[in-house]
Amino acid sequence: MSESSIKNIRNGVVASVIAGIILLLVPTVRGYASLALDWIWSGVILLWDGLFEYYSFSGWFLLVIFAFAIVGFLTIFFAIKSNFDAPEHSEYKEDSIFNLKWRWRWSGHEITNLWCFCPSCDATLVYDDSSKNSFYEPTVTHFICENCSNTTKGTITGGAKSYALGAVRREIDRRIRTGEHEH
Ligand SMILES: [Zn+2]
Repeated sequence: MSESSIKNIRNGVVASVIAGIILLLVPTVRGYASLALDWIWSGVILLWDGLFEYYSFSGWFLLVIFAFAIVGFLTIFFAIKSNFDAPEHSEYKEDSIFNLKWRWRWSGHEITNLWCFCPSCDATLVYDDSSKNSFYEPTVTHFICENCSNTTKGTITGGAKSYALGAVRREIDRRIRTGEHEH
């Protein structure tokens, strides 16, 4: 077997393994995982050709190369799998936060459809982040129940609606981190 063929195979395998390690460490790169799988597959084809074309190629060396390729493949496989697995806290979809009843869904590890409901009658609340008495006062978001004679059921201080939802998301994350949501 020629020197350059061995180098080509080795480079392909090393690149696959490195790709696997990068995928394991950097979540944002996982989208490129399928690209890397194609890459590994072409590496396997190359090895297969090598096996039959160059019979002098020693068996143990092939075995080592295959082992590396499999490690790379499994790494990528589990990286993809863990991304689609439901998080452990996927049953945590409701809680009382800032005196309001909040409900949400999980899309992977992202909170979606986050909204609040009346703690006394469970009606969907409406928000008002437009009222502000003076320039110097912080922006507030009121959550109002139309079913309870338009009473304000809760107020989040510090910003408008998107800020209020962000604050609730941060509180949900905090309760998950500290394990408070299990009590
Ligand atoms: Zn109500």
